[in-house]
Amino acid sequence: MSSNRQPIVSGNWKMNNNHFEAIQSVQKLAYLLQKDDFDAVEVTVHPPFTDLRSMQTLIDADQLRLKLGAQNCHSEDKGAFTGEVSPLFLSKLGVQYVIVGHSERRELFGETDEFVAAKVAAVLKHGMIPILCVGETLAERESGSTLDKVKRQVRIALDKRSNEHVKSMVIAYEPIWAIGTGKNASPADAQDVIAAIREEVASVASGPAAQAIRLQYGGSVKAGTIAEIMRQPDIDGVLVGGASLDPTEFARIVQYRRHAF
Ligand code: PEP
Repeated sequence: MSSNRQPIVSGNWKMNNNHFEAIQSVQKLAYLLQKDDFDAVEVTVHPPFTDLRSMQTLIDADQLRLKLGAQNCHSEDKGAFTGEVSPLFLSKLGVQYVIVGHSERRELFGETDEFVAAKVAAVLKHGMIPILCVGETLAERESGSTLDKVKRQVRIALDKRSNEHVKSMVIAYEPIWAIGTGKNASPADAQDVIAAIREEVASVASGPAAQAIRLQYGGSVKAGTIAEIMRQPDIDGVLVGGASLDPTEFARIVQYRRHAF
């Protein structure tokens, strides 16, 4: 990347690590990462909901520079939504980032673009930052509709959001066929889609918002692949699933600058 946007590396643990395992994992990660790493790269960790209170306590007690994230939330503050989690409750737990519209939520749990947009608004309302996920299936890629799909997802999610809010956000381009499969979009392919996302943000919000918003790539990122991804001019970070479960591998991903340049 080549701008003054701060790189952001996020670990999505999905439905892995109970709260005991979470504490161990974060302690190890905090031990492996140095002050320089945190000065250079913002690091967010997204455990399951049941781990959040333990992680908040650990981060506060040890004054860790890791940012606490959640994997999802509902769009309403409270009410008859059995099994759902309020964004208001997440903000009270010190959560700073919330993944919204992950493809597993969209594909497995039927979340629509409109529901995702309502969640983006709710997360921002409570002073947290959404990491909005967008991406195409293999069939959509093969039929040439990648850009139509991701631009539509971006447009609907950002509609009616203020420029200030858009500037603060993160969007993760995650081709669905690359998630958890060991397959990557090539860095050049990812750059092309992400550059198109930045253009779309400029047309839905504004030029300054498009320059400020941070755009991640996600899909089977590993320590050995991140350096080339981060060399792309529009890519400001990565969203990491499987490889974030191993603190040693995740720390090496965060430290990409050491083995990259
Ligand atoms: C993800 O869960 O967002 C993800 C990108 O997973 P993985 O790194 O395992 O492909």
